Amino acid sequence: MRSIFFAVSLLACHQATAWSDHASLAWPMLRTDATLMQSRVVVEPLDAFLKAEAEGIAEVLTRLEIAMIEGDPEYPPTPAQLSFDASNKKDFRGRFIDALRISPRLDYGLYRQVMAGDVISPDSETLGWSDLSYLPSGDSAQERIYLPLTPGTRVSPAYILASASDEPDLGMDVGLYSNNDTDVGARYGLGEQPFGNPNLPYGSQAPLHMGFYHLDAVTELAQPSLKRTLPLWRIKQYEELARLAFASGHEYWGWRFMGWALHYVGDLTQPYHTDPLPGVDLLSALWSVVMGETNDLIQLVSNRHGVLESYQYRRVLALMHEGAWQAPLLLAISEPQTACFTPEGVVSDLTAQSVALGPGLDEVLSKRVPPLYVSDPSFEWVGYEFEADVVALISAQGGDAAIQALDNELRGHLRRFSYYLQGWITHTRALERGADQS
Ligand SMILES: [Zn+2]
Repeated sequence: MRSIFFAVSLLACHQATAWSDHASLAWPMLRTDATLMQSRVVVEPLDAFLKAEAEGIAEVLTRLEIAMIEGDPEYPPTPAQLSFDASNKKDFRGRFIDALRISPRLDYGLYRQVMAGDVISPDSETLGWSDLSYLPSGDSAQERIYLPLTPGTRVSPAYILASASDEPDLGMDVGLYSNNDTDVGARYGLGEQPFGNPNLPYGSQAPLHMGFYHLDAVTELAQPSLKRTLPLWRIKQYEELARLAFASGHEYWGWRFMGWALHYVGDLTQPYHTDPLPGVDLLSALWSVVMGETNDLIQLVSNRHGVLESYQYRRVLALMHEGAWQAPLLLAISEPQTACFTPEGVVSDLTAQSVALGPGLDEVLSKRVPPLYVSDPSFEWVGYEFEADVVALISAQGGDAAIQALDNELRGHLRRFSYYLQGWITHTRALERGADQS
């Protein structure tokens, strides 16, 4: 536990996408599970679910709102005019989006991501990133392909869960704060963005995708806005909606909501999403304040975070495209683990561990990646023209030893990611089974 004293508005390009492409990260595990791979879930548009279950949705959201207000002093209550009114028969989707306080710039339509190993017929209609998201596509998003889904057809839980687990990074949580210069920001009651740069395309989702639940008392006192992180709220919202969807026979939305929630679970397995400055001790933080070098410190952490994501994405995707499913990095994801995990364990278990692993991860990155990328505060990794060549760049300077060391470190984090993924799948199956029995 450490303290940081400097202006958190400087926590700027801490880019808050956590792992790149959550769908691909989950895929090595999901593809091995025959029951998840069965095309057995009937695709249903959001409007149909909302119309059929309006009363249940209103009840779930009211209950959750009370629990959030009681349980979290930092939670910004939902303005009364946004609460979901089941008796109003107009514009279910718009009012649902308002009630959840998510971005109205996505249409929450029906699609799935094309995964490594999928065989797609050449005349299939496909979609790209820009068909689904209004955000600029980063290095990792450009290559992705999606398929539209048709209502009434069947799709496997694996595809729903994988695709939905990346959906919050499409822009669901962007532009929601009062100083984001958006219509919803003015209405949603979330207040000013507590940290992160409001002018960066992804910047404003940071407080919803990062969870600083283990700050020490000094930091909390000096930077109380760091306490205003909200991933736990998102996880609870979607889990409760999934519970309702399964119980009322809307299996597609059960899996999809659980996929949305899984995104935040996955984000929180990454140390850079649970600690504002992993690996920076109190003395260094104070010294950098004294020396006026806090910007530098933040830039270094941001670059390490960015390099980690690029490296993870390139290593995992290359192996998946080669079909190297037995490679140690992919086995770290696919090997079965006995995992039990529900939203109740997010703070006590998941984020506590992520915080503890931060300094080790930061050290490996700082030692094994060429200094320009991780130890030079004048350099910006995110958007760097050779971002996609991250593995070759590291190998050119550090050789096999650097790759080995980074793979070792990454393997541990992927194994942890998979532990929580598997726990979440077990939890989802219990909700699905519960619905069968009722
Ligand atoms: Zn995220």
